[in-house]
Amino acid sequence: ATARRTPEGGLLKVDAEGTVYDDAKGEIRARFTDKGVACTKVEGGRLSVKKVSKTFEFKTDTKVPKVGLMMVGIGGNNGTTVCATVLANRHNISWSTKTGPVQPNYIGSLIRASTLRLGFDPETGKDVNIPFSDVLPMVHPNDLVLGGWDISAMPLDKAMSRAQVLDYDLQRQLFPLMQKMGKPLPSVYYPDFIAANQEDRADNLIEGTDKLQHLEHIRKDIRDFKAEHGLDKVVVLWTANTERYSELIDGVNDTADNLMNAVKNSHEEVSPSTLFAIASILEGCPYINGSPSNAFVPGCIELAERHKAFIGGDDFKSGQTKLKSVVAEFLVNAGIKPLSIASYNHLGNNDGKNLSSQRQFRSKEISKSSVVDDMVAANPLLFKPAEELNAEAAAKGVDGEVTKKGEHPDHLVVIKYAPAVGDDKRALDEYYSELLMGGRNTLSVFNICEDSLLATPLILDLTILAELMTRVTYRQLPSETASEEEVADIEFQPLYSVLSLLSYMLKAPLVKPGTDVVNSLNRQRNALETFMKACLGLEHNGDLLLDTRVW
Ligand code: NAD
Repeated sequence: ATARRTPEGGLLKVDAEGTVYDDAKGEIRARFTDKGVACTKVEGGRLSVKKVSKTFEFKTDTKVPKVGLMMVGIGGNNGTTVCATVLANRHNISWSTKTGPVQPNYIGSLIRASTLRLGFDPETGKDVNIPFSDVLPMVHPNDLVLGGWDISAMPLDKAMSRAQVLDYDLQRQLFPLMQKMGKPLPSVYYPDFIAANQEDRADNLIEGTDKLQHLEHIRKDIRDFKAEHGLDKVVVLWTANTERYSELIDGVNDTADNLMNAVKNSHEEVSPSTLFAIASILEGCPYINGSPSNAFVPGCIELAERHKAFIGGDDFKSGQTKLKSVVAEFLVNAGIKPLSIASYNHLGNNDGKNLSSQRQFRSKEISKSSVVDDMVAANPLLFKPAEELNAEAAAKGVDGEVTKKGEHPDHLVVIKYAPAVGDDKRALDEYYSELLMGGRNTLSVFNICEDSLLATPLILDLTILAELMTRVTYRQLPSETASEEEVADIEFQPLYSVLSLLSYMLKAPLVKPGTDVVNSLNRQRNALETFMKACLGLEHNGDLLLDTRVW
């Protein structure tokens, strides 16, 4: 069911003023008024609240292009599982397990396996839910052309076996198809960035040490892949090992120009992941960072802005953190105060082996740690902000600032490598909270599943959504009722470079510099739903359900 195709011409047609389907041009244009509430602190600590709105027109190109997905780290657990999943779905390969036959599917994909509430049926009053994939024209994962790089030369059929993720009966049937994909393209390997224990894998390398030449090599790989397969677009996605953080150095990676210079000088702090990001930006391909490293150094973000290219990151939000971004929000929104959140993981795949090295673990620790920050900051009733703590201290006669940080639950993240459990990662979380009148609550969650089977649908969703966002342009209109003549001269432009709408799939969402990060899974999903409906000129209907509340 998750591989079904949207009916020819789309599942829905919006009949509303301001929404225009231009079949000749292959586009949908829709007006959408974004309504907000501006709150300004006035004297006495009160809030002056005003309704504000901006009207936009979105234009969605409805022709679904032929898309290639190039993965950096294609020979790893995620990379090979993505290839195997797409091939099994494309060729409709079912397989036997001890509990019976299994059909290929895209379970775990927001786009392919979840629905959204579009509206209601006027006759019955019942909700009408439709698959996410039917809202706007999107690439079907079966149609993605797959390729990519790996520092390991192992051919993809063997690499799939090395990953030990999929049932043998499925692997057996996929061998000839995976064999046809050959071996990964050679990649760049700067040993200092990933764990030393990865060295024996690195036998498929682009020659030389000149980083500018490496950049040109990767750019050519992208162009060649596009030409060879007759592709309209390519999305590049990093699913290679987690790198250590690049040091942020003024004059090296702080601006786009400095970063390009640093590449020319083969500066040691230019990481492979940043190099792939630069190559993708310069080739006009969206680039997604599925690992927690800081590939997107400030200069790289500026480069993407300069080229109006799209980037998204960081770190797939697959299991433990996804649940945490739900449970922590549930607790805080219920008015319960988490005092500590302690997370333990052990895993036995190559990702775990790489993360057993301290500097690579540190990248992951940072990425996993910020996930409750916005929920905590949103509730000063439970968690005292820094100003309040400082004011309290001053009242007690303490001189000067005591803290820059507000109250926060203790947050602990531990990851250990246990080869025996393979890709079946174990994640244990303890939420210890304060209840009414001094009470305490301990919630313990123990989560076991194949890590790569969680990450694979995210990789597909990220690719499909990033591609869709390259086909949406917008212009801001002077008013909701502006006439066509009035707006004729206003140009459409692409969305902002950092695709924060992809946050639902990412642990440490990259957002427009200076704007708030939203970690709450519900809010992230809501943003996506609202955006997709806005492209059709539909208001997002929340859960007011007024008809059911009035006589
Ligand atoms: P993996 O170790 O099995 O695969 C990574 C692959 O990248 C390996 O084949 C390795 O040879 C290759 N590689 C390393 N450096 C490279 C380079 N410079 N160029 C090209 N290839 C290179 O790991 P995995 O389980 O597939 O995970 C991949 C990444 O996704 C990791 O960074 C991991 O932290 C991240 N991630 C995974 C999950 C998940 O649920 N599986 C969740 C969040 C993040």
